[in-house]
Amino acid sequence: MEKTNYDLIIIVNNDYRTNIKGVFAAGDSIEKKYRQITTATADGTISALNAIDYINKIKAPNYTEEAIAG
Ligand SMILES: Cc1cc2nc3c(=O)[nH]c(=O)nc-3n(C[C@H](O)[C@H](O)[C@H](O)COP(=O)(O)OP(=O)(O)OC[C@H]3O[C@@H](n4cnc5c(N)ncnc54)[C@H](O)[C@@H]3O)c2cc1C
Repeated sequence: MEKTNYDLIIIVNNDYRTNIKGVFAAGDSIEKKYRQITTATADGTISALNAIDYINKIKAPNYTEEAIAG
């Protein structure tokens, strides 16, 4: 998993995806400016919704790697 030099901090993209397929992260574990309860909660919501979207896409009959690449 891609991490910063601090090793405990995980790098995610705008969808909270890590560089490992199907693994999402949120909250204090990710690289970001503000570490607060409200930001962690928002991260968790977005990350979970994106994880659901990812699962739905890979379960779809017309699933392709390109469909989930975004
Ligand atoms: C002293 C202090 C004061 C703070 N005061 C404020 C404040 O006043 N207001 C505010 O908004 N924010 C405050 N924060 C920041 C806020 O607490 C965090 O940003 C927020 O809790 C992050 O939520 P999280 O779910 O990402 O991580 P956490 O709340 O740290 O939750 C992570 C959970 O994962 C568990 N865990 C860890 N490793 C494993 C493992 N291997 N397997 C299973 N479980 C594991 C931990 O036990 C923990 O329960 C404070 C932080 C600290 C340290």
